[in-house]
Amino acid sequence: MALDKFGRSISYLRISLTDHCNLRCVYCMPEDMTFRPNADLMQDDEVLFFTNLFASLGFHKMRLTGGEPTVRANIVELVQGISSTPGVRSLSMTTNGVMLKKLAASLAAAGLKRVNISLDTLDPEKFRRLTRWGNLEDVWMGLQAAEDAGLAPIKINAVVVRGYNERDVLEIAKLTLEHPWQVRFIEMMPFAGATELQVNQVVDWEEMHRRIERALGTLEIVDNGKLDGEARLFHLPGAVGDIGFISSVTKPFCATCNRARLTADGRLRLCLLREKEVDLLTPLRKGASAEDLRAMILDGIWHKPWGHGLEQGIIPLNRVMSEIGG
Ligand code: SAM
Ligand code: SF4
Repeated sequence: MALDKFGRSISYLRISLTDHCNLRCVYCMPEDMTFRPNADLMQDDEVLFFTNLFASLGFHKMRLTGGEPTVRANIVELVQGISSTPGVRSLSMTTNGVMLKKLAASLAAAGLKRVNISLDTLDPEKFRRLTRWGNLEDVWMGLQAAEDAGLAPIKINAVVVRGYNERDVLEIAKLTLEHPWQVRFIEMMPFAGATELQVNQVVDWEEMHRRIERALGTLEIVDNGKLDGEARLFHLPGAVGDIGFISSVTKPFCATCNRARLTADGRLRLCLLREKEVDLLTPLRKGASAEDLRAMILDGIWHKPWGHGLEQGIIPLNRVMSEIGG
């Protein structure tokens, strides 16, 4: 079991399969983003090697992310390999949904259990503006395909950005009246090259909550406010789905953090919002043994930072969000 020095047991690994993406969301990356060459990314056998290693250390919950994980070559075979690794009990994916129409059924057959789909607005024009060129219809078809493939319960991630989609929280929240989905509203976080947008256009969870209650009725708290992952859940009267708020900026949930991240270039990232990383891929390529690498992982986890420093104005500058994966 991997423990940190604060006594947190870390058993959830988010693996970024690529930093590449087929969209350019304004809150995530610059329009002229340059991606890493493929040779710098973990190759398929390296991803599977690390999956095995982490699973042997008690990491039983895994999530695939990116960039956009579905643009990675051989994604179905990779999912098959990861889901059948001994010790991996739950495998999910965070995706923009664009490719799911094509891939959902094969991913489910390969062992993927659930998807979180990013969807920030139900308005096609605003969707295009937020993603710079995305087509909302693709995501709707992806959602449908995911549901048909049984990748449930479906979670929807909506990052809320002032001036772009703060009013759209209502239409998105209303989805829970008809669909058994968990819709999660996320406070925008700042990363490398933190744009003015990331700092000045944050909408905090209390404002989103107020806006929804005013228009749609009292939000009943679910499970006494116990966190579901990183989301605090609520329920609209008569709804079949839940509404969650991920308040990473204004009300962090670091005390219950159980996760670590593996970046697409093979670095163990210990906190989403801290720069500290342990390079695992370079030693692997230089011939480090599984035992050496296990020791590096355990030592890294032991030194996992307690939490982020946004309140003190500390912004992680070494990567943009798409290079970490969320
Ligand atoms: N491409 C996939 C997607 O969009 O779902 C997976 C990678 S994306 C980096 C993972 C999650 O991070 C998405 O839900 C996205 O909306 C969210 N995200 C991206 N930039 C963010 C930011 N600056 N603050 C908060 N969430 C962000
Ligand atoms: Fe791509 Fe996801 Fe970032 Fe949007 S949030 S640019 S879909 S990686």
